[in-house]
Formats: sequence, C-alpha cells, structure tokens
Amino acid sequence: MSILGKAYFHNEEAAFEHVEAVLWPDGPYCPHCGAVDRIGKIKPNPEKRVRLGLHKCGHCKGQFTVRVGTVFEASKVPLHKWLQALHLMTSSKKGISAHQLHRVLEVTYKTSWFMCHRIREAMRSDELTPFGGNGGIVEVDETFIGHDKTVKPHRSKKGRGHHHKHKVLSLMDRETGKARSMVVDDLKAATLAPILRDNIAKEATLLTDEFRVYQGVGREFSDHHQVRHKMGEYVNRKNPEIHTNTIEGYFSIFKRGMKGVYQHCAKKHLHRYVAEYDFRYNNRSANGIEDQERAAIALAGASGKRLKYACNRPN
Ligand SMILES: [Zn+2]
Repeated sequence: MSILGKAYFHNEEAAFEHVEAVLWPDGPYCPHCGAVDRIGKIKPNPEKRVRLGLHKCGHCKGQFTVRVGTVFEASKVPLHKWLQALHLMTSSKKGISAHQLHRVLEVTYKTSWFMCHRIREAMRSDELTPFGGNGGIVEVDETFIGHDKTVKPHRSKKGRGHHHKHKVLSLMDRETGKARSMVVDDLKAATLAPILRDNIAKEATLLTDEFRVYQGVGREFSDHHQVRHKMGEYVNRKNPEIHTNTIEGYFSIFKRGMKGVYQHCAKKHLHRYVAEYDFRYNNRSANGIEDQERAAIALAGASGKRLKYACNRPN
C-alpha cells in the first residue's frame, strides 16, 4: 500500500481519528473552558445528522470537534481533503500551487487558495530561540525575488538593480541545519541589525558576505567573518568553514520553487511563502524527518493558529 492509500486520506471518520490523535495526544480538550475531563463523544447518527467527531463538555456543556481553534475551523472542506492537501504541501520540496491543488482535490480554486494559506499558517514556526547559542556558526544572507510593486524603480542610481525587488533575509544555524527567514523592507543597517540581535546569540560566530551593513552589527558577536564574493572568494582558503554556501543552497530551492510554482506573489503574502520554505527545509529528511512525520508536525502546528485575516480575492 502506498502512503496515499492511508484510510485518513479517504475516510472522514479515519481522518478525525488521525487529527484527534495528533492534536489531542492526551485525550480531548474543551476549547471553550479548557477542561480535559468529563468530555463525552457524541456518536454520529446518520438520521439525526450529528456531526462527525462531535464532543460535549460535561463542565460547560459546550460542543466542539477537533477542528475548533485550528486552521481547519470555519471550512466546509472535509478533513480528509485537508489531510491530502497537507501531505502534498509538506512532501513536495518546492511546494504545490493552488491551481494544482484545485485540480487534485476537486475543490474550487478559491477554496484551494485559502487552504494553501491556512496550511502555510500551520507551518509557521513560533520558535524564538536565538541561533548559534552554543557558540556555533550562523550564516546570514539576503536574497531578492519577484517585483515589489509598491516600490518605484530608481532611474538615476546605478548598481541598485535589486531596489524594486522583494527582499528576504535568512539566517542559517550550521549546527542544527535550520533556517529562519523574514521579508524585510530594505537592507539598511537600521533594519537588519535589530533582526540579527534578536535572532542570533552573542556567543555565535557570524558568517556573511562583504555587504557593509553587516560590519557594524558583526562586532556585537563573538566573531564575524566575511566572505569576499566580489574577489572571487567563496570558501576561505585558510579556513574552509568560512563560507555562506549552506544558506545559498537554501536560497536556490526557495527561488526555483517560487519561480516555478508560485510565479506571482504579492508582498503582503510573501512572509507566508517564506514560512512554508523554512518549514520544509527545517524538517527535511537530511535533518532526519521524513514525509509522514513532516506532515504530522505541520498538523500539530494547525492548532491555535486560526487564520483571522479576511481576504476575498485570491492573488
Ligand atoms: Zn468546557
């Protein structure tokens, strides 16, 4: 049997059991009053059309299913289709477009577009621990993607070819093999330095390219090496540990995916795509995480992150 043969991809009851097992590992939890005991399951009854997975709290008498308080709440899409979408998005290295998901799941494009954004929200990490905590190496680099239509291109200044593009800053902890990326408005020291201070431990060794904005803030860390790309240097000859190739490898997956799968991306949504690529990269098989476990990690992240923003127009 292939992974796609799993019952929870096809059978709604099995889908509920699977999601309950992941989100309620210690048994059901009442989202209304927080109770963990005296919770009864209401048996689905075809004649009375009782909802699948419905529970009732003996304390507050409130009714709920495991979907309450998750990114699946307030969606009419059956849970087994959500699990299919989650599997496809977490197992495809470069992601899957809402257009393709619309065809595979046989839901409308508008629905698949919302599903994609909600799954990205589930993938978003709340991890705040600074990188390089044990005095390890942290690579920092920036990349440019797409076209930021909110910025007018410079005509007079030469060498500012990236000015009108979206800017993404990524940090890479060499020890854990994890990346943390964010969309930034510009590449000024005033913008980048606080991000480095908040996300990198002082005892870390910073590795960047020769971009001058890193020089000032670089002194705040235990060590800072700059690779001089303009001089044709990619790996330091004296110390082969000094390079930013790990983070550049990550950017190449991100950029190929964004170009191939998500051709257009408005700035207001870019941070969600960035979270998606960080998630897959941080939970990749080289870090010991295979498809099924990766999907379960995203599923666990579906809780407590109901997407609150309203946006009617997919773009
Ligand atoms: Zn309750």
